[in-house]
Amino acid sequence: ESPLLSVRDLQTSFPMRSAVLRRIVGQIQAVAGVSFDIPAGGTLGLVGESGSGKSTVARTIIGLEKAQSGSIVFDGDELTSLPKASMRRVRRQLQMIFQDPYASLNPRATVEQIIAEAWQIHPDVVPRNRHRAEVRDLLERVGLNPDHAERYPHQFSGGQRQRIGIARALALRPKLVICDEAVSALDVSVQAQVLNLLDDLRRDLGLAYLFIAHDLSVVRHISDRVAVMYLGRIVETASQDELFTRPLHPYTQALLSAVPDPKPWDKPAREQIIIGGDVPSPADPPSGCGFRTRCWKAMDRCAHDVPELITRLDLHPAACHFAAELEGAVS
Ligand code: SF4
Ligand code: MG
Repeated sequence: ESPLLSVRDLQTSFPMRSAVLRRIVGQIQAVAGVSFDIPAGGTLGLVGESGSGKSTVARTIIGLEKAQSGSIVFDGDELTSLPKASMRRVRRQLQMIFQDPYASLNPRATVEQIIAEAWQIHPDVVPRNRHRAEVRDLLERVGLNPDHAERYPHQFSGGQRQRIGIARALALRPKLVICDEAVSALDVSVQAQVLNLLDDLRRDLGLAYLFIAHDLSVVRHISDRVAVMYLGRIVETASQDELFTRPLHPYTQALLSAVPDPKPWDKPAREQIIIGGDVPSPADPPSGCGFRTRCWKAMDRCAHDVPELITRLDLHPAACHFAAELEGAVS
């Protein structure tokens, strides 16, 4: 069976403008060849620091950015070459939840109006005379009081607003929901509640998620698979279990060392690995391995050869020349 979403060698770049010269002086490669699959009902956690390109991946999938090259097949449609009219049909099945629900909820609209808005564009999904009942159902499903449908966004807490955002995303009965830092702005206890809700919805509705976060601990429980991004590339990908118990890439190891216990791979307990410096600018990436300017295991070779995302020995794919050796180094 083919996956619900299949992304292959995706590249997205932005023109780089010079404020001084007032013209385009180059290209910024925000996404530099990314591939992954998400099966129907599955969840991929996409993790990386800000600037790693993960939001650009999401924005390219939903058509807010144009792919420079590569392929995005969703439910049988090639999105990179889909005519605008067909994209509207596809977008119904492909919804997005953002970090800041407040910014994306019209403050002058009631919750009912916010949720029902989607049905104006897609009237075939829910007939007019069913709007009110359907809004109540959706509110109940996301754990809100259906009697609050006439209230305005400012009358809800941050976590409740994110639930409104989720109800709005569900209104069109999508197959895939892209969550871009969907719980990052919430308190940890509220985060857990919203993550539980998303997990319940996945089970009940058969939803698939592309779950984007900068924090590995956030994606842990909701993801079947995890992909770690750095400087526009996936540097490691594995099942959730495998990635957390046997991280191969130094970057993943550093990210994981910052996640509170348990760290089963890290016995005896080791110091947290602090990565120095910032993510280099995608406008001027390092030669060879993109991570080498911050990697404490870098060797001469890393400055010359770009490590490919491949499986070494019988391990999972990691883009590090020494991934197979690193595993031994950890124990
Ligand atoms: Fe570090 Fe070299 Fe591996 Fe890159 S290829 S992660 S620089 S050891
Ligand atoms: Mg982002």
